[in-house]
Amino acid sequence: MELTWDNLENECKSCTRCELCGTRTNVVFGCGNRNADLMFVGEAPGESEDLSGIPFVGRAGRLFDRYLEVVGIQRESVYIANMLKCRPPKNRDPKPEEQDLCIEYLRAQVKLVKPKLIVCLGRISAMRLIRNDFKITKEHGVWFDKGDYRMCAVYHPSLLLRDPRKKTEMLEDMKAVKAELDRLTEK
Ligand code: SF4
Repeated sequence: MELTWDNLENECKSCTRCELCGTRTNVVFGCGNRNADLMFVGEAPGESEDLSGIPFVGRAGRLFDRYLEVVGIQRESVYIANMLKCRPPKNRDPKPEEQDLCIEYLRAQVKLVKPKLIVCLGRISAMRLIRNDFKITKEHGVWFDKGDYRMCAVYHPSLLLRDPRKKTEMLEDMKAVKAELDRLTEK
C-alpha cells in the first residue's frame, strides 16, 4: 500500500496488532505540522491522551507546552508523536514486544514528516531511537547524528513533575534544541 498520511492514520486507528488495543479508549496517532523541521517523540499515551486521542495534553503535556513557549517554539509548528499509539494500562512501561509491533507507525511518520531534528522525550524513546543503553541523566541534551537525522533526548515532562530539580537542565536542553533548529533552518 502506498505510504500516505491517510493510509497510515486509518491503518493505525484500527490497529489490533498488540494487546493494548483491548484497553485503549482512543489511538493517539500524533499531531502537529506534517512538514515540521522538528519532531518530538514521547513514550506512550497517558490517561488524558487516551481519553482525548491527542499526545501531550495532560499535566505533563501542559508543562511541555510551557517549555516550548518559553524557548520560542510554537507547538503547531512541530510534529509530536509517541512510540506507542495506545496507552499501556496504569502507564506501565511499554513492553519490548509492543514497541516492536508499533514502531513501524512511527518510522512511517518520520518518513512522511522528514524532520531535520528528532528530539526524544524521555529515556524509553531515547533507548529505542538513539541507543539501547542510552543514559538519560548523563546524555540528555547531547546531539547524535543517525542516518539523515540529528537527534537528542531531553527529560520526559512527567519526570519533571516528579523531580522538579531537573527543570533547570530541561530548560537549558530546550534552549539548545531551539538554537539547533534555528541553525539548521536559517536561510
Ligand atoms: S500500541 Fe500500536 S501496535 Fe499496539 S494496538 Fe496500538 S497501534 Fe497497534
